[in-house]
Amino acid sequence: MAVFSDQVIQWMELAEKKVDSRFKAIDRIVDANQWKVIEAFQKHQVSDFHFAGSTGYAYNDRGREVLDLVYADVFGAEAALVRPHFASGTHSIATALFGVLRPGDELLYITGRPYDTLHKVIGKPGDGTGSLGDYGILYKEAALLDHGGVDWDQVTNLITPATKVIGIQRSRGYDWRESFSIDQIEEMVKRVKEIKQDVIVFVDNCYGEFTEDREPTEVGADLIAGSLIKNPGGGLAETGGYICGKAKYVELAAYRLTAPGIGGEVGAMLGTTRGIYQGLFLAPTIVGQAVKGSVIAAAVFEQAGFESKPGWDEPRTDLIQAIAFSSSAHLIAFVQGIQRAAAVDGHVVPEAWDMPGYEHPVIMAAGTFIQGGSLELSADAPIREPYIAYMQGGLTYSHVKYGILTALQNMIDHNLL
Ligand SMILES: *Cc1c(COP(=O)(O)O)cnc(C)c1O
Repeated sequence: MAVFSDQVIQWMELAEKKVDSRFKAIDRIVDANQWKVIEAFQKHQVSDFHFAGSTGYAYNDRGREVLDLVYADVFGAEAALVRPHFASGTHSIATALFGVLRPGDELLYITGRPYDTLHKVIGKPGDGTGSLGDYGILYKEAALLDHGGVDWDQVTNLITPATKVIGIQRSRGYDWRESFSIDQIEEMVKRVKEIKQDVIVFVDNCYGEFTEDREPTEVGADLIAGSLIKNPGGGLAETGGYICGKAKYVELAAYRLTAPGIGGEVGAMLGTTRGIYQGLFLAPTIVGQAVKGSVIAAAVFEQAGFESKPGWDEPRTDLIQAIAFSSSAHLIAFVQGIQRAAAVDGHVVPEAWDMPGYEHPVIMAAGTFIQGGSLELSADAPIREPYIAYMQGGLTYSHVKYGILTALQNMIDHNLL
């Protein structure tokens, strides 16, 4: 067992005492979501034979068909498309957007600049990449207000007869802003539909699944998408993504994923089906472990004198914990410390590097069973002021605790605390 200084142990003990009521609230959400998942499995009589793989066209793959039905029920949606053929969350989101948008239509994001990897999906007219913009789909966004809320004056001005899709990003992503709760998303859906009744409300649900007891499709969102190597994969899904929503929009997305007329009727699952089902079964609990990990991280780092967002006692709607450090040395010691607690690649020391697409060097901790799996404990930080690290995930609460302990100890060992 690693040796931790008394100071580090004391911070952890004080923090764990504080967070007890938050943990009880998280347990209640886990229980609600666990039963929701079990009910959906039971309703569709999931059996062992559903887990078999399929090959070739995979027509009538019953495991795949029932998986879509189960997801639709869990997310309170008319239909779902759950596939290992989605390479990532970005691919799922792009498929949903390309599915419903046509040249001349407008996409309006009302929660500010979307997640980094979507910028190239949105693209620009004539960029030659086959982006939305290249296909003549117009894009607008309403920046968030200073306090983080939606700028309704701006949104009202930006909605035109051409506005086909309203984009909402639930999670803060890697921005120092608030995430949007299901209650807030419900309010947004209501307000945009008051302005233009026939808009399609799309929610980027990445990192949000099962952190609350409802999902955006249960409060009026028409279409949502996410990644299976984040929350709903439960740490077991090896790859893939999902789209849920109104049946007609999910079908259009399926036409885009495979081909018009074919849609979700084909697609070999190979050996992935069991992991996706079992991952969904585990997801409420694993997400609960990760959220507890984020809460304790916020509490411990506040104890140690750093600012956390959200604070340990604030409600949550995603996995991401942002912590502001005072120098690049702290940031690097933090990320390297998180890696030191990993079961996989725990011997590796992360270094900052110039990642393609980023303006500043980025340092990342990721000792994961699934490459890039961010329901597993990981941390990222661009090396720039104000030196914010983003951590997320943790398949077990205990692992996150050790990640925090090794990170703090690493800072002490480098005379940073
Ligand atoms: C992770 C994430 C994405 C993209 O997912 P990838 O799997 O990395 O492509 C999009 N939006 C948000 C908010 C995310 O957190």
